[in-house]
Amino acid sequence: GAERTKNVLILMSDTGGGHRASAEAIRDAFKLEFGDEYRVIVKDVWKEYTGWPLNDMERQYKFMVKHVQLWKVAFHSTSPKWIHSCYLAAIAAYYAKEVEAGLMEYKPDIIISVHPLMQHIPLWVLKWQGLQKKVVFATVITDLNSCHPTWFHPGVNRCYCPSKEVAKRAALDGLEESQIRVFGLPVRPSFARAVLSKDELREELGMDPDLPAVLLMGGGEGMGPVGKTAKALGESLQDKETGKPIGQLVIICGRNKILKSTLESEDWKILVKVRGFETQMEKWMGACDCIITKAGPGTIAEALIRGLPIILNDYIPGQEKGNVPYVVENGAGIFIRSPKETARIVTEWFSTKKDELKTMSENALKLAQPDAVFDIVRDVHDLAEQRGPLANVPYKLTSSFTSII
Ligand code: UDP
Repeated sequence: GAERTKNVLILMSDTGGGHRASAEAIRDAFKLEFGDEYRVIVKDVWKEYTGWPLNDMERQYKFMVKHVQLWKVAFHSTSPKWIHSCYLAAIAAYYAKEVEAGLMEYKPDIIISVHPLMQHIPLWVLKWQGLQKKVVFATVITDLNSCHPTWFHPGVNRCYCPSKEVAKRAALDGLEESQIRVFGLPVRPSFARAVLSKDELREELGMDPDLPAVLLMGGGEGMGPVGKTAKALGESLQDKETGKPIGQLVIICGRNKILKSTLESEDWKILVKVRGFETQMEKWMGACDCIITKAGPGTIAEALIRGLPIILNDYIPGQEKGNVPYVVENGAGIFIRSPKETARIVTEWFSTKKDELKTMSENALKLAQPDAVFDIVRDVHDLAEQRGPLANVPYKLTSSFTSII
């Protein structure tokens, strides 16, 4: 008979740019792989259905990562399991009805969480609803190495880990081998599948066709020492003797409007493009020869696919720290905090040390996992097939639990 369209609910939060990028990657891969078989809904359920503190995560996160010490304390003090489960249980009880309504409105056959704080509460809701055996629940971890234990929940059907290191942690935290899969970090298919020519991209983006190009960014929020590094590059990428440019610079400021306007008013001696939040990152990366960024997992995974050597100049304490050795130990990049030193290295890469740049680019391509997102959606599809249709299971909105509290 005719198959019913299945609903996939992806839970994310707009903290940084990475969670949204992963959610959109999974949505796009479902569409490419299965067409109308699935309807995919990407939701920030907390923002829409709960009160403080859950609906305020985005603002709190931005505040905390700006005040790095505070974030360090928050990240590490919520690590012990008993603390976070008590905290989450309290929040779950308090907002149970709203979250439940929020989740159930979409009648999901499959729930995919791409956020460390979105396993416990949705899984409780499924339990109260008696839907644990009916709805497929999967976690897609978006940290490459060090990650917060709230990512791991033994009640999931699958936990997709981006690397072997993360899989090891998942196993140590009590997940079964049968729950864990390692395919890589999901990256938008526009990155993975696109065949782009550098020459054409440079023409489209208004860049110099011949000069080597460096891309400078700091995640979705434009964080890290972007301004200082830009100025140092502006100096060092001009040949002191001839005055000729050695390279060109692209700066993507993301949602950081102050950074963008500051850099736009600068008097540059070389060709510089200053951009805000870009929706086609694959084009900018495809047009450049190396990248300078904070250690965001999304940006790193994308740069590896494009074969860009990476200079990491910053990381968010806690979840991004482990991304640094992942890049450096695999020979795909280096870690330098100093803007001046960064500018010196890039200038060398573009002049006397071109072979070093080439080797790193090859190493980056070896680490790249462009098909990860397709492996993930195919595996989720297989799980859903095993479950069979959900059509006859009624969703009820007043669970016994919510009427108790
Ligand atoms: N990004 C984007 N446009 C921009 C800046 C960033 O689409 O102007 C994307 C970038 O391609 C990556 C994500 O935002 O997919 C950033 O994720 P990452 O994990 O690197 O850092 P976060 O912003 O989450 O801290």
